[in-house]
Amino acid sequence: MSEYGLIIDGKKVSTEEFFDVLNPATEQVFAQCPKATEADLDRAVAAARSAFGSWSLVADGERSRLLHAVAEALEANIPELGKLLTSEQGKPMHGFAGLGAGWELGGAVAWCHATASMDLPVEVLQDNDAARIEIHRKPIGVIGSITPWNFPVLIAIWHTIPALRTGNTVVIKPSEYTPIATLRAVEIINEILPPGVINIVTGDGSLGAAMSNHADIGKIIFTGSTATGKKIMESASCNLKRLTLELGGNDAAIVLPDVNVAEVAPKIFATAFINNGQTCAAVKRLYVHEDIYDEMCKVLTDLANSVTTGDGAGDVDFGPIQNKAQFDKVCSMADDARARGAKFLSGGDPNDKPGYFYPVSIVADIDDDAQLVKEELFGPILPVLKFKDVDDALKRANNSPSGLGGSVWSADVERATQLAGRLECGTAWVNNHAMLQPDAPFGGIKQSGFGVEFGRHGLEECTTIQTVQISKT
Ligand code: NDP
Repeated sequence: MSEYGLIIDGKKVSTEEFFDVLNPATEQVFAQCPKATEADLDRAVAAARSAFGSWSLVADGERSRLLHAVAEALEANIPELGKLLTSEQGKPMHGFAGLGAGWELGGAVAWCHATASMDLPVEVLQDNDAARIEIHRKPIGVIGSITPWNFPVLIAIWHTIPALRTGNTVVIKPSEYTPIATLRAVEIINEILPPGVINIVTGDGSLGAAMSNHADIGKIIFTGSTATGKKIMESASCNLKRLTLELGGNDAAIVLPDVNVAEVAPKIFATAFINNGQTCAAVKRLYVHEDIYDEMCKVLTDLANSVTTGDGAGDVDFGPIQNKAQFDKVCSMADDARARGAKFLSGGDPNDKPGYFYPVSIVADIDDDAQLVKEELFGPILPVLKFKDVDDALKRANNSPSGLGGSVWSADVERATQLAGRLECGTAWVNNHAMLQPDAPFGGIKQSGFGVEFGRHGLEECTTIQTVQISKT
């Protein structure tokens, strides 16, 4: 029997069946996770629906206070949550540039506080002798959150806290690969919030589809692949569910010849390999002007050769790739690149020891049709592509079905800002990449999804508008 349980209506619920959760560094079973049935899901949704009546009426200031208390409770449990994250996700606690499990959990706490402090006041559109017209933001009801395996706790907070802040209740289903830290986090949150306000179900196969088909869930927030996002969109029509879909990206960064390579290369390296490249908004295609191409490749290769990959329980920069399917995808894309004549300047070969370890790899002389360039890799390989003319670089960067983020790097900030505006993506950075903050909206265009998270705009996504018109005549 597992020490972990579902949390439904404020209570820990055991299940008849469990499934194994592996540690990707050892390929050994790390925990037994409760396997919820669709009946468990129905109970969780019913609990959330029942709690919605009172939670949606809790005074705004009180909801804010409770969510600040949630942030404090999570912060107090960072050491325990960090160990769980390392064991199931693979990332080290500290990691390269301090962007490991500690950073993920610190970010979760910061996002929780920041979101707790935001609000959506009533807007007055008109107030004259004829009428007063107000725009109210109303919670939707029960929001279903389906979270991925790359940042399990941080993304759970991104999905659920804006939903709760605006008066919705939640049923969350984490990835079957990384459910444990989220189970524990939701247990901690339930020590603060009233029963039924946030519920969690875990399973390994059919719950996601059952959620997107559920008539009593009013909205789904999903972070994951475009293929699954499309399936969710199809099912959502059953009750016209609202959707926020964050479906990853294939972000391009364009580096102009006037940069100081020694200064910008480490920044690019950090944003390309954050979380071992398993990050939706990491740099995934690096377009470098031919004048500085060799120098950039050299500095990136030196950086790649200086970092360590190993079991996240030790003092390493990067852990394993999170799961076998993803590891196989990375290996197969690397093989495709090699077969096309691309050159691995570092890494390129996984070792044959247990664990899904792949070294940090820099690939040069690769063409735009290689899978590594055309598709989202989600792993520790960075393809570096050469360009001569910036219009051509922009065209190649935009020649993608994805549109999450993009960046331009230059000493001439004005020019870079103007070029960044021509990138087809939801967030365009200048001289940086993958920098997210809780008050700036973040989301994709094209097949990277729709809807935004964070800030006022993210809160609005968890609401519907009610226009209140008070006649004065
Ligand atoms: P997916 O993106 O396919 O998502 C799997 C999750 O979706 C599971 O929780 C699953 O639940 C749920 N799901 C499956 N079918 C449906 C459905 N019809 N309706 C609702 N939910 C459903 O994850 P993978 O792990 O397969 O990753 C594939 C690729 O996605 C990666 O290679 C990477 O490129 C990308 N990715 C992007 C991320 C991002 O941050 N944007 C994060 C992770 C991956 P159940 O188990 O119940 O079926």
